[in-house]
Amino acid sequence: MSDPGSRVQALRELITQASVDYYVHDQPTVDDAVYDAWVRELEALEAAHPELISADSPTQRVGAPAATQFSAVTHREPMLSLANARGTDELVEWHRRLRDALRAAGHEDAADEFVVEPKIDGLAISLTYRDGRFVRGATRGDGTVGEDVTQNLRTITAIPARLGTDGPVRGIVEVRGEVYLPLAAFAEFNAARAAAGLATFANPRNAAAGSLRQIDPRVTAERPLSLWAYGIGGAEGLAPATQIDLLDWLRQAGFPVNPDIALHEGIAAAAAACQWWEAQRSELDFDIDGAVVKLNQLAAQAAAGAVARAPRWAVAFKFAPTTATTCLREIRVNVGRTGVLVPYAVMDPVEVGGVTVSRATLHNHEDIARKDLRVGDRVVVQRAGDVIPQVVAPLVQDRTGAEVPFAMPLHCPACGTLVVQPEGEVQIRCPNRSCPEQIVQTIEHFASRGAMDIEGLGAKTVVRFFETGLVRNVADIYALAERRDELLALEGFKQTSVNNLLEAIQASTVQPWARVLYALGIRHVGEVTAQALADVVPSLDALLAATTEQLADADGVGPVIAGSVREYLSSEANLATLDRLRAAGLQMRQDAPSRSAIGPLAGLTVVVTGALDGMTREEARRAIGAAGGSATDSVSNKTDLVIAGPGAGSKLATATRLGVPVIDQAQFTQVLAGTHPAPIRDAGADGA
Ligand code: NAD
Repeated sequence: MSDPGSRVQALRELITQASVDYYVHDQPTVDDAVYDAWVRELEALEAAHPELISADSPTQRVGAPAATQFSAVTHREPMLSLANARGTDELVEWHRRLRDALRAAGHEDAADEFVVEPKIDGLAISLTYRDGRFVRGATRGDGTVGEDVTQNLRTITAIPARLGTDGPVRGIVEVRGEVYLPLAAFAEFNAARAAAGLATFANPRNAAAGSLRQIDPRVTAERPLSLWAYGIGGAEGLAPATQIDLLDWLRQAGFPVNPDIALHEGIAAAAAACQWWEAQRSELDFDIDGAVVKLNQLAAQAAAGAVARAPRWAVAFKFAPTTATTCLREIRVNVGRTGVLVPYAVMDPVEVGGVTVSRATLHNHEDIARKDLRVGDRVVVQRAGDVIPQVVAPLVQDRTGAEVPFAMPLHCPACGTLVVQPEGEVQIRCPNRSCPEQIVQTIEHFASRGAMDIEGLGAKTVVRFFETGLVRNVADIYALAERRDELLALEGFKQTSVNNLLEAIQASTVQPWARVLYALGIRHVGEVTAQALADVVPSLDALLAATTEQLADADGVGPVIAGSVREYLSSEANLATLDRLRAAGLQMRQDAPSRSAIGPLAGLTVVVTGALDGMTREEARRAIGAAGGSATDSVSNKTDLVIAGPGAGSKLATATRLGVPVIDQAQFTQVLAGTHPAPIRDAGADGA
């Protein structure tokens, strides 16, 4: 073992380099767990050898210096990091120290009131408003000096250009929050990058940071970044007394504030709230890596103050890691629905973030080469929220020499056709349009959740139907009702299962046009893009009539998608399929244009919470859309109406506090039927 001095030096160099890769280049070169272990080791060494502490140690600093391609912004108040608590014991220990500090400062009364917030895994930003107008936005940088990314932040619709408070807000207000990339958008974005031969991002956080820190704001504009606001870095003329009041003010000013943030009395209740957030983690559509416990009273926060890099009044309760290491046993190759050969990893099963993982996509051969993955390697596997597991990197130091580099097959593993690599593309493809695997995958995708959502038509059934010749094309699905006898003749298919399947198929015909577009499986058209496309071409006829240029110019579409849509429509076989789908009664036009001027909920933003009898959340959303309203998930002062069923919780409480009208299911049914008007929000009841 080396002497403490040289180990400290070595750790500082490793941590500093990793921080630059992570914060400045948005491409981490080591796993977070490894990085955190280095930091902890360094902290322990510095605690044992105080003479080794120096002001430039990474344990005393925040983030990494701002990149030079952006103008520097000096923060009015430093943007700090957070101290960590791993588990309840460390949380209780943090509280004990905080209580001592508060007692000494005469604020002991405030020591047991906490606000627990999700710790969003995005990147911290500061948004400066002058006289109510957004004038400057900056990244955290090294905590003192950040990067000016104002133009890029202006492209994020969740960030209000003007504060939406009732009265004018004079002077400077600096709002703080976390910019993040929703998980579905991340998965789509990475898949598109892999298809284009670009390096994929390790996690949504790095993708969000990379997207925001673009020189060209138009690039940022194409990425569906969003925001959760959680703090104020300084405000002239605003004096909230508590963190909860501050969050309410942010909501009223038009910022998205998570509706499940709540106040808790006592550290045990705060710990329980942290565990609640951990349990929610896989349900959220954004990544969180912990919960933040904050002292509620702002005067007590100020009295507690900060240590070198973190405030004393807040702590990050860290969740179980979503990374693990295991052995990469084999690399196999799948054929995707567009003929792309996609390599995937077969690993020794390992638990990551509460789920056992043994397979993970490897995107393409260049990604494998870039990561230098070899069969037999020990690898780091990561699972972030709902995102498919990823192999992050090999543990090069564990190599024995027996590991074998990977080469792509020369023939399609499904049909044996010689594969091709089109000029300028990174993907290797099977060029055979009748390749059975491609057809099966297309049908599977069409029926999948998020697409036509046909329950009972999963991967295995699709393969059987394909092999027996019942379904050779997605349109054949809607002809199954006429082939009931053949279905019943299949082993394992009884009256009930056939009835259920046919009902599910019939029910899928109400899926909206955007879903149909997604279900078709056109290259590059994922869920988010399909919605953007449906907004531009609200019907099949409009799509058929649109020129490639018109599509390419539309917001959220662009030339690549326009090209692949055109390619799809140039096939006679695809046009015939579309005709058959139309004849089968699928929705080939956008239902009542969203937020239309017609319908009983015209122009209203509506939130459903709690359970509705005989109606899924998705069905309720659709009914709202068809009635001219727009269904959203969280309650804010932009919400016009809340429909609350049994079990409604914090959303209902927020609605009541903000003065948003609330109706029950019976009233909702009357509103939809047009027998009762939707209640109108009282202009005075703004929750201010
Ligand atoms: P942190 O991200 O753990 O905590 C501080 C940050 O939390 C704040 O700056 C803010 O951006 C964010 N945050 C999210 N929700 C919040 C809320 N509700 N209230 C307040 N703040 C909230 O600290 P850090 O110092 O930025 O980064 C450390 C993390 O980054 C570690 O998890 C580490 O693993 C990772 N990291 C990894 C590498 C690598 O090479 N793999 C390098 C550097 C850092």
